Amino acid sequence: MTSLSQGRAAVFEEPTGPEGVRIRERPTTEPQPGYVAISIRAASLNHLDLWLAKGAQRLPPPRVIAADGAGVVKASADPRWKPGDEVVIFPTLCCWECDWCRAGENVRCERFGVVGEHSDGTACELFHIDARGVFAKPPSLTWEEAAAFPLTFLTAWRMLNTRARLRADETVLVIGAGAGVSVAAIQIARHMGARVLATSRSEEKRRRARELGAEAVFDSGEFSADVKAAARGGVDVVFEHVGPATLRESMRSLAIGGRIVTCGSTSGTKAEISMPRLFFGQVSLLGSTMGNAGEFESVLKAIDRGMRPVIDSVYPLNEVESALQRLDDAEQFGKVVLSVSS
Ligand SMILES: [Zn+2]
Repeated sequence: MTSLSQGRAAVFEEPTGPEGVRIRERPTTEPQPGYVAISIRAASLNHLDLWLAKGAQRLPPPRVIAADGAGVVKASADPRWKPGDEVVIFPTLCCWECDWCRAGENVRCERFGVVGEHSDGTACELFHIDARGVFAKPPSLTWEEAAAFPLTFLTAWRMLNTRARLRADETVLVIGAGAGVSVAAIQIARHMGARVLATSRSEEKRRRARELGAEAVFDSGEFSADVKAAARGGVDVVFEHVGPATLRESMRSLAIGGRIVTCGSTSGTKAEISMPRLFFGQVSLLGSTMGNAGEFESVLKAIDRGMRPVIDSVYPLNEVESALQRLDDAEQFGKVVLSVSS
C-alpha cells in the first residue's frame, strides 16, 4: 500500500530544516481500484516531519510530509466509502494482506511504514490512500481535532495498553510533557484511571500538564528522588521518548518490577543503562512504534467516550514553514495543526 498527495502540497525538497519544505502544486487524478481520494480539511505535524526536513531520516526528497489527516471523501474506488463521507486517516502503512496484517499485527508487516515518511503524506489538498486505511471521523471532534489525534494517540495507546499493560491502580510518569505523544499519554492514562506524574523543562508546560490531570509535575533535571517520594517508592511505568537525556532518571524513578516504555529518542540515539538497576530492579524495557488498526479502533472508542486531543496552534497550509519552526523551537503544548481547506 502506498499513498499519493495531490493539489497544493507541502513538499520536503531539501534537508535544510523547515525552509526545505515548500508549497507545490501537483496534478489531480481519480483513485485507483481499492483506493479513496480525500479532500483534506486539516493535517497535523509530528516530530517525525521535522526530522525528515532536517535530513535525519536519510530519505531522498521529494516527499509530501505529515502522517495525520482528516477530510471528506471526494471520490471512491472501493465500496467501503462514498463521496461526502467524513473520515480520518490511519497513519500506519502496511500491506493489509500478509499473515501479520491478517492477524491484526500491522506493525509487524514487512511493508510497515508511516504515512508521510515511507510514502507521501497528508499535508496536501487531495490525498489518495487504500480504503482499508480510512476510518469514520469521530463526530464530536472539529476538523482540527480530528487531524490532531491519530499518530500520537495511536502510539501512546499501544505503549500504555498493549506494551506496558498499565492498570487503573498504577502510577505512570510521563516524560517531556509538552510533546504531542506525551500529552496524549497523560490523557489516555487518566482515561484508564491511572495516576499520572509528569516532567517538563518548562514551568508553563508543567502547569498545562496539571490541568490535564497530572497529579504532580517535576523539572526535567534530576527528578527521580522527588518522583519516588510522590509515588511512595517509585512509579509502575515510565512513558519515555526523550532517551539519553532522561533515561537514567527514568530508570531510577521506577518501583521494583517497573516498566519503561519508549517510542523515541529525541535527545540522541545511544543511551547507557545501569545493568544492576535493570536486573536487581526486575525492570522491563519495552520498545514500541505506531500501532495496529485494532488499537486505532480502541482510540476512536475512547474519543466517543469523551477523550479529546489538545491543539497547540493552527497554521494555514501555506505557512507550513512557520508550523515546523514552532516544533523546532519546542515551545508547543499539544499538536501543531495545518488547516488545508474549509
Ligand atoms: Zn502486511
